[in-house]
Amino acid sequence: RQAQYRRLRNKPSVTRDGVDILLQMNAGLLVDLPHLDEAGAAGVGLFRTELQFMVASSFPRMREQQSQYSQVLDAAAGRPVTFRSLDIGGDKVLPYLRSIQEENPAMGWRALRLGLDRPGLLRTQIRALLHAAAGRDLKLMFPMVAVVDEFLQAKSLVDKEVKHLRRHGHATPENIRLGVMVEVPSLLFQLEELMSHVDFVSVGSNDLFQFFCAVDRGNTRVADRFDTLGVGFLRALKSIVDAANKAHVPVTLCGELAGRPLEGMALIGLGFRDLSMSPASLGPVKAMLRTLDAGRLSARLLPRLEPGHDDSNIREVLKRFA
Ligand code: PEP
Ligand code: MG
Repeated sequence: RQAQYRRLRNKPSVTRDGVDILLQMNAGLLVDLPHLDEAGAAGVGLFRTELQFMVASSFPRMREQQSQYSQVLDAAAGRPVTFRSLDIGGDKVLPYLRSIQEENPAMGWRALRLGLDRPGLLRTQIRALLHAAAGRDLKLMFPMVAVVDEFLQAKSLVDKEVKHLRRHGHATPENIRLGVMVEVPSLLFQLEELMSHVDFVSVGSNDLFQFFCAVDRGNTRVADRFDTLGVGFLRALKSIVDAANKAHVPVTLCGELAGRPLEGMALIGLGFRDLSMSPASLGPVKAMLRTLDAGRLSARLLPRLEPGHDDSNIREVLKRFA
């Protein structure tokens, strides 16, 4: 199997009926980066910047952050990298950040909420990213956005930092693209407004499913209670692709779903063309899609999402198709 996947590394990522699928990888530490070449990823679709903070014993200074980000960009050698701003809080704790006890940390003071309340922290990170990407492309997305205005606030911090750097004669990135992770269900009902402001979106299916079904992603007692290929969640995912396509906004999915072949297949059937996953999943997913007729799959899957079919077991339908 391993050898079979290795042989696929340099083969095009295209379905049997000629649909190109961009396969990127998720990463969080420098040691992940050799996988870019080993697994044949087209880029880093999610770089979890909080990992550097989690393995440190105190807040990494601006220069340390900058050095990490520029090494990531160097390793990517021109392939796209999507950085995600700090996603701490919830299950990702920093021993040196004094935190209050929260009854529901996953829904608490975390991610961009913390960044907007402690703008010094977020601005330092933004400055480090701007320095690291000077003269190159910077793609940055923000986690746990629940209302569009949070993105606008984060964007204005980026604008301020860019102005500050230019005023002081520093080089800035050639091109800055700012995006949002769609992982809080409230965004499903603000898709049009969201798409009008962002340069791209990326679906965080781990958190989106957790909040969509109100099942703690880490609680084994309930985590498998509902099917990620259930009709409700698939409709939600489809509404995101459709809104993005309508507004010509690039859309990726970077949660664990993308890395499971059957689920990845369903995502392609829904219209996703850009998936990001852990490096080990790239081979199995590529093997799947190279034998897939995406058009025939969509024709089988999409009618099942219409009202009147909602009692059908979509996982079974997909398994039979596969
Ligand atoms: C997600 O929520 O799907 C995601 C990709 O981010 P994380 O797993 O880091 O929360
Ligand atoms: Mg998440």
